[in-house]
Amino acid sequence: MSAIWAQTLWLLVGIATLVFTPVALGFGLDWGLAAVILALLLMLGWHLLHLHQLMAWLEGPLNDPLPRGRSVWEIAFAGLHRRVRIRLGQQQVLSETLERFREAVQALPDGIIAYNRHRHIEWLNERAASYFAISAQHDRGQALFNLIRHPDFVAYIEAARFDEPLIYRGGRVEGLTLLLQVIPYGADENLLVARDISQIERIETMRRDFIANVSHELKTPLTVVAGFAEMLADDRAAYADDEIKRYLGLIYEQTTRMQRLIEDLLTLSALESGSSPVSEERVEIEPMLQSILADARVLSAGRHEISLTIETPTAIAGCANELRSAFSNLAANAVRYTPQGGRIDLTWRAHADGAELVVADTGIGIAAQHLPRLTERFYRVDRSRSRETGGTGLGLAIVKHVLTRHRATLEIESEPGHGSRFAARFPRRALLN
Ligand code: ADP
Repeated sequence: MSAIWAQTLWLLVGIATLVFTPVALGFGLDWGLAAVILALLLMLGWHLLHLHQLMAWLEGPLNDPLPRGRSVWEIAFAGLHRRVRIRLGQQQVLSETLERFREAVQALPDGIIAYNRHRHIEWLNERAASYFAISAQHDRGQALFNLIRHPDFVAYIEAARFDEPLIYRGGRVEGLTLLLQVIPYGADENLLVARDISQIERIETMRRDFIANVSHELKTPLTVVAGFAEMLADDRAAYADDEIKRYLGLIYEQTTRMQRLIEDLLTLSALESGSSPVSEERVEIEPMLQSILADARVLSAGRHEISLTIETPTAIAGCANELRSAFSNLAANAVRYTPQGGRIDLTWRAHADGAELVVADTGIGIAAQHLPRLTERFYRVDRSRSRETGGTGLGLAIVKHVLTRHRATLEIESEPGHGSRFAARFPRRALLN
């Protein structure tokens, strides 16, 4: 400021000494005054010119460079220039911070929609867009209810009781279950947070089904045992000896069934909680399969023709107990689901890609639609046949678990009435020399 006053003062002194005095002395006072007015007019014109430049800059595009001035205008333009630079710097910092914040919100595992008091979307991240099948780019500014019309959602937002979250099913994305929570903030603004809980829900359903299945599996034999025990306890004398023997036989049969079920459940639970990868011991395949063959022959009691072919004697790295349990299950199933007179062939072979155990039977076979679900716990094609043959419905679930822990796979080919072929395939790296 003081620089401007100093410059103005120097100008006035300059005009007085360089314009007024010489002209007034040479041509008289009137000419002196006229010369001063002319000098002031020139000065005014010069200022107007700079003012014009400033106005043109102010009206021009934001990134136009500032005009260059002289004298006081140079100082004024330099001051403006400095302020513009500082403001641009602040803006840069602000937009970088905003960008980082946006990136962070985009990276969140939750879907986020910010909407205003009129329930118009102000902002949403990509995850929210995919959860609600809307567009993060084009749907900003749209009314929330135009895009998400599900009655549960509309009722939840309208009720505005956001202490409890909403479990949102049946949106536009099939099979997706979301947990929605609204967080009010600022001046009547709201943040809708959507979390994908489909997986948690699936696990919860599995857990419920599992408990229901186990209870059901135990209830049936327990009812039989309790019924006969009650009959005998009430009036033992009312039954002939051979009747009592038969009842006790049935009680024993059902008790063994429960025992088998509990053993299978314990095996499954040990497999599920066990460390992965499994403890790696050297497992010689041939003796193991020979003893499984012997067990299968006992189970078959001469009703089937059972063979074992070891094409390549091999040892693999793994857990012998687990592998024995898996292979025995496959062999026992082949016996149980093959009618009398059928054939069962166990074949072990190693090749360039690894090794495999194939258990092939000429039994009842399995229709294609059941194949993908066979390894689910308690899944059976024919419930009563499975029970008649002493099945627990957990055998193939155990096989699948054991093979997965050994990085091996189970492949099933089958045709109803023409038999089945179960192949347990081990990767090359499981084989030992
Ligand atoms: P289960 O104790 O009922 O045999 P598994 O898990 O071992 O339970 O097998 C699941 C179902 O797969 C069986 O109930 C049966 O329907 C079918 N299954 C398994 N192995 C065979 C086979 N070799 N031939 C025909 N069906 C089979």
